[in-house]
Amino acid sequence: MKTIGLIGGMSWESSAEYYRLVNQGMKARLGGHANARSVMVTVCFEEIHALQHAQRWDELAVRMRQAARQVQAGGADFLLLCTNTMHRVAPAIEEAVSIPLLHIVDPTAQALRAAGIGRVGLLGTRFTMEQDFYRARMAGRHGIEVLVPGEAGRRRVHEIIYEELCHGTVRAASRDAFRRIVDELAAEGAQGVILGCTEITLLIGAGDVALPVFDTTRLHALAAVEAAAPLGPRGAGPAASQS
Ligand code: GLU
Repeated sequence: MKTIGLIGGMSWESSAEYYRLVNQGMKARLGGHANARSVMVTVCFEEIHALQHAQRWDELAVRMRQAARQVQAGGADFLLLCTNTMHRVAPAIEEAVSIPLLHIVDPTAQALRAAGIGRVGLLGTRFTMEQDFYRARMAGRHGIEVLVPGEAGRRRVHEIIYEELCHGTVRAASRDAFRRIVDELAAEGAQGVILGCTEITLLIGAGDVALPVFDTTRLHALAAVEAAAPLGPRGAGPAASQS
């Protein structure tokens, strides 16, 4: 089994979900007392949040490179960045370490493709919804068109993420707001919706909104389990050795 490396703390509420999902996923895969081998480095979100909102992406790249090197030094075989937003600096991370980065867009796109979806709504932070790094990878590498909510919807989703979900606060009124925003995306032709912020999974699950949901936290974590202990040719057991 390979060792999964995680950069967490953005926020720790979602990092805890990653930790639960990789361990549950590995137990489901291997049985018995199996859990994932992992190394997590947790950054302080107070500093990251301030740098994001000051648009200091160069400094954020420095912080993420440093965390990635720590994870590599801890023995990880590959790396997950447990936030959609910070994939803005994914190229800088990839340059800093020799282990591969499992980019969050890729397993999400694979799930969308498997569901036959070519046009999808995206909910996430303003950075993820408005900047190009996420949509461009979805379109350029995977041929999936991404729709985002209008200005008022983007503002509301961003506020709910940072003021509620990153503090572990889950409100029914915010779930209703997401429902309305997803209805608008559906009316524009979205066939599904990406939960493109790793805390949204705390608020919304399958069946809570009118479109099929693609939960990046879950898809990313389960892709890590697959990468760490791939199933053999007949799906009967892990292909990798259990050393
Ligand atoms: N976890 C969130 C994401 O997936 C937002 C927190 C952050 O800004 O990193 O984008």
